[in-house]
Amino acid sequence: MIISQNKPFEEILGFLKNSEKIVLTGCGECASACNSGGEAELIAIKAKLEDAGKQVLAFIVPETSCNYLLVRRDLKKIKESIDEADAIVSFACGDGVQTVAKQVKIPVYPGNNTLFIGEVERVGIFSEACRACGDCVLGLTGGICPVTRCAKSLLNGPCGGAKEGKCEVNPENDCAWILIYEKLKELDQVYKLTEIREPKDFSKIAYPRTLNLRNSGGGAIK
Ligand code: SF4
Ligand code: SF4
Repeated sequence: MIISQNKPFEEILGFLKNSEKIVLTGCGECASACNSGGEAELIAIKAKLEDAGKQVLAFIVPETSCNYLLVRRDLKKIKESIDEADAIVSFACGDGVQTVAKQVKIPVYPGNNTLFIGEVERVGIFSEACRACGDCVLGLTGGICPVTRCAKSLLNGPCGGAKEGKCEVNPENDCAWILIYEKLKELDQVYKLTEIREPKDFSKIAYPRTLNLRNSGGGAIK
């Protein structure tokens, strides 16, 4: 899931200093789960914007804000409001904001900060789990990501700075490499620690990345 959080209201108002008529969009997937772009959040932000003297012509929560065709379908439902509006504020992730921006001829501003790809630990509690490195090493590390969960993204074992199991960079976090060691021990795979991992091939994360399943013959393993 993409974890996002509302920007400070003052920052959003700053985007809108030359805009009076506003449309709000959210996202029915990740941003709804993060309470940053669901219907309840848009209703609350609409009220705040109106208190600040703005006119909110419409708001909509597209089913999935990062799906071009679904966004196009959902924006059509409020086409008249968009035609009249000065600006849109999108409360989706950065991808969702751009998907909306591609489809309209007025400014689209981000209402959220996009934080990370993460796991929902419990309702309202999220933790970063994957940095989309394009070359997954979880098979060697007991299913614990060293790229994301080690503060130095070390691939070949710990830095040696951990204290009482906690990371020397951020002592609130467990040292990822101690977790990896414990997990590999549990799996009877400690021998994997002696396998040297080559430096990561950063050409695999040359931005922007694309994936075209039509040209590659589909996504399933053949
Ligand atoms: S190694 Fe970590 S960052 Fe890379 S794909 Fe796997 S989980 Fe994601
Ligand atoms: S203490 Fe552990 S998690 Fe922190 S940087 Fe060193 S190896 Fe990585």
